[in-house]
Amino acid sequence: MRIRGAVLEEIGRARPYAQSTPISVGELELAPPGPGELLVRIEAAGLCHSDLSVVDGNRVRPVPMLLGHEAAGIVEALGPGVEGVSVGDRVVMAFLPRCGECANCRTDGQLPCTPGSVANNAGELLGGGRRLSRDGSAVHHHLGVSGFATHTVVDARSVTRVDADVPPEIAAVLGCAVLTGGGAVLNAGLPKDGDDVIVVGLGGVGMAAVLTALSLQADGAVGRVIGVDAQPAKLDAVRALGADAAYTPAELAEAGVRAPVVIEAAGHPKAFESAVAATAVGGRTVTVGLPNPAARSEISPLVLTAEARTIIGSYLGSAVPQRDIPRYVEMWRAGRLPVEKLISGVITLEQINEGMDSLADGAAVRQVIRF
Ligand SMILES: [Zn+2]
Ligand SMILES: [Zn+2]
Repeated sequence: MRIRGAVLEEIGRARPYAQSTPISVGELELAPPGPGELLVRIEAAGLCHSDLSVVDGNRVRPVPMLLGHEAAGIVEALGPGVEGVSVGDRVVMAFLPRCGECANCRTDGQLPCTPGSVANNAGELLGGGRRLSRDGSAVHHHLGVSGFATHTVVDARSVTRVDADVPPEIAAVLGCAVLTGGGAVLNAGLPKDGDDVIVVGLGGVGMAAVLTALSLQADGAVGRVIGVDAQPAKLDAVRALGADAAYTPAELAEAGVRAPVVIEAAGHPKAFESAVAATAVGGRTVTVGLPNPAARSEISPLVLTAEARTIIGSYLGSAVPQRDIPRYVEMWRAGRLPVEKLISGVITLEQINEGMDSLADGAAVRQVIRF
């Protein structure tokens, strides 16, 4: 079938992207779903820093690629052998499919699925190959989702069904920002007994970590929740979300504030250093950011030993989407996780290059494309 989508043509074009237009919006051909796959009509898709990282070359991926890895939509057709999902269901897509059979999948989300990672790096679906093409040439999938399009074909192991009362833009944001930021808290940081939580880097993922930590204050698991970002506007935003304090990295260091659980969600080596420095004796630094592969950080091995500290790398918030997304939906329904507060703007597919500029400026938390 013919679809309309946003294809990254070339990596590393100069900014502003509104002028250099690395992403073109146009028509593509989408093959029908193969065995174990779904055709989904996209309703909403969020712009994440990991999309920008492909555009600016921090994460090198094969092009042309139909971007977008945080999306939700309605199932329109099932390939052979799909169970547990029906035509008409709303599904959330997660950016790492889980084969459910490899050794890593048996770690309950602590390690990324091996064949899922191989497929993602190749720009293919978990079942192998590509369903997208243009003028007879293949177009790569982005992390098994390719959500910046009117329709997509995904592996059923990339999706989680949600009830119809979850609005599309909320459902979309559950798939990356909330799974990653929430999981950094619930699956990796594991605050308890009133632990303070510091979150360094206040984009969509960091703000979702803040919201999740705040949700744990009511039952006493979390004490103070502190946001850290270099941009003053982000500090105002995190205070508005309910954070107990907010600092720039320099202010944090000067104040000497430390916490047992510190989450790094900026994907920058300096942010990682700030997060490690702000981790208390016996504490855990959880890193979910994705810096450039060449980036290096300077930290003291001595403090790890002398202060009995732990650094935890957490991909996709160590999530098992089909286990965790229903949990976030319950928290959202109960009013404990106001996911809608993460959405800073709604744009059209045609505004995608401008949206990437806003992300690069650090101005936006979560812009969502509505279809
Ligand atoms: Zn993302
Ligand atoms: Zn696996």
